[in-house]
Amino acid sequence: MNKFGSKTENEPVTHIESVAVKSLMNEYGSPLFVISEKQIRRNYQNAQRIFKTRYPKVQFAWSYKTNYNNAVCRIFHQEGSWAEVVSGFEYEKALGNGVSGSKIIFNGPDKSDKDLITASQNGSLIHIDHYDELYTLIRLSEENNLKPRVAIRVNMDTGIYPKWDRFGFNFENGQAWNALTRIINSQNLELVGIHCHIGTFMLSPNAYAIAARNLCELAWTAKERFGKMVQYIDLGGGFPSTNTLKGAYLPGTDTVPSIDQFADAISDVILGYGFKQDELPLLILESGRALIDDAGYLLGTVLATKRLSDGRRATIMDFGLNSLFTSLWYEHKISPAQKLGNQNEEMVMFGPLCMNIDVVRESINMPMLQKGDQVVVHKVGAYNMTQWMQFITYRPAIVLIDTENNTHIIRKGEDLRYMEELENIPEHLKS
Ligand SMILES: *Cc1c(COP(=O)(O)O)cnc(C)c1O
Repeated sequence: MNKFGSKTENEPVTHIESVAVKSLMNEYGSPLFVISEKQIRRNYQNAQRIFKTRYPKVQFAWSYKTNYNNAVCRIFHQEGSWAEVVSGFEYEKALGNGVSGSKIIFNGPDKSDKDLITASQNGSLIHIDHYDELYTLIRLSEENNLKPRVAIRVNMDTGIYPKWDRFGFNFENGQAWNALTRIINSQNLELVGIHCHIGTFMLSPNAYAIAARNLCELAWTAKERFGKMVQYIDLGGGFPSTNTLKGAYLPGTDTVPSIDQFADAISDVILGYGFKQDELPLLILESGRALIDDAGYLLGTVLATKRLSDGRRATIMDFGLNSLFTSLWYEHKISPAQKLGNQNEEMVMFGPLCMNIDVVRESINMPMLQKGDQVVVHKVGAYNMTQWMQFITYRPAIVLIDTENNTHIIRKGEDLRYMEELENIPEHLKS
């Protein structure tokens, strides 16, 4: 960074974990998602170490919606992570990945009666989102003689606006305390924890300090009044990755707080709150984005270049908003995958879709890419492989590079057979 702006990063990226980008696309096609198992394990172990050195009892739960490819989930589970799910579909996926029911956290506003019964029978941690769910669960537990293990999700003012108050029970207006009281007074529900998830891509460690303090206060009050300490405090996810948000002046790598800062803020509050040593709650974290974003890459190829009516250079890629949903929020770092000339030009990078909003980067300074040149998009591991759209083209394959640098397809590219599997043509339209 100097008075003229920041330098353009044009160093070609020819390898990912020592596997040649060119050979990956030759073998598996373009566009192509690539995930580094090494990087996932590094991220996980790093976050685990940072929290465990500051607080004695820590448990991570992998946020399925961030990336629920089974191979990815299983890496996290092998590392010791529980599962955090927000739908019946994700719940089934976690069971299928061998996670025992008692290590699945069931969040979100959408749990069917069947989901609630299954989760109760499996001893899962049901995080209640609203009164309707609380009353339903009380009724189901009476009808079916269940003893659900529950927590409530709490929302609050952490100084971040707009407030995330559509999930859970509000702290400031007394709703959260009211819900806790009802649970404690119910016959069948066992209150095991208190939960919040205050937002995503959070840039303020202090917001977590406020959240931790509020949850501790609820736990403390419950103990004082009812003589029972909850087993855990779950502070959700929301830590940022090092991506650069749109409109930011400086790259994310220079501005985003480190996990250490969040861990300091959280552990200082809980350790200092005054719980007795043997009553210290387990600290659960549901970090998604921060643990996977930089383990994911998207490889792609230039389809064409052209000049727009105002003279600007435009480059059309074979991937767009359909596979790279996060280009709505991030200025993704994009590197050429081969050595190109020394001359740079500012360009717009478009995707292949026949719609005007299909823009990958509104403005990027890159060497003069030509048809057939290849690029690497960095830090795309979070949310893209779950929020991707099947629209106009097939969704690309995902390849995993394992810790020995062997490659494995972990999701095939879609094809016509897959796409039409669920369709049905009525008899009268067949001839
Ligand atoms: C999405 C989500 C997470 C993960 O959030 P990140 O911002 O990716 O860390 C954790 N908990 C809940 C309840 C969520 O909805």
